[in-house]
Amino acid sequence: MLRSDEELLEIGIDMSKLKPQVVAKLRDKAADYASCMEVARKLTGLVYEMQNAPVPPPDVARYLAEILGPLKPGATICLVCREPLSFELFHRARRGRAEIETSHSNPRLHTAENAGFAHRACNIAQGDKSLEEFYGWISRILERARGRAI
Ligand SMILES: [Zn+2]
Repeated sequence: MLRSDEELLEIGIDMSKLKPQVVAKLRDKAADYASCMEVARKLTGLVYEMQNAPVPPPDVARYLAEILGPLKPGATICLVCREPLSFELFHRARRGRAEIETSHSNPRLHTAENAGFAHRACNIAQGDKSLEEFYGWISRILERARGRAI
């Protein structure tokens, strides 16, 4: 739960100075510190499990293995399209435009079970739909498109 505007101001966050869409997103997705740390640990593991990812330093590998189980190199897939994700996609990022983004099965829930990585294009296509809603929506589109014999 997001703190009140007064409490946030005490820690240096002035909600009145943020754009309305940023405030709306913060209020919609607000997660507690423990959830954010859990998501961060999971995402770190997923990065090291991407194809062509560097081998983590031994202490990091041990730490992640204690929390997540043994790392499985090459196992990370796009949360949306399920294709394997390559670490090299991070190198193709340009200012304001990443190739890989954090993604959520349910965009309104910021928990480790619900978070992962997705291609930017897949994440944009999913939008504010849950994965279940998105797959249903895209399936109906494909059915209609195939009915036109494209
Ligand atoms: Zn994808």
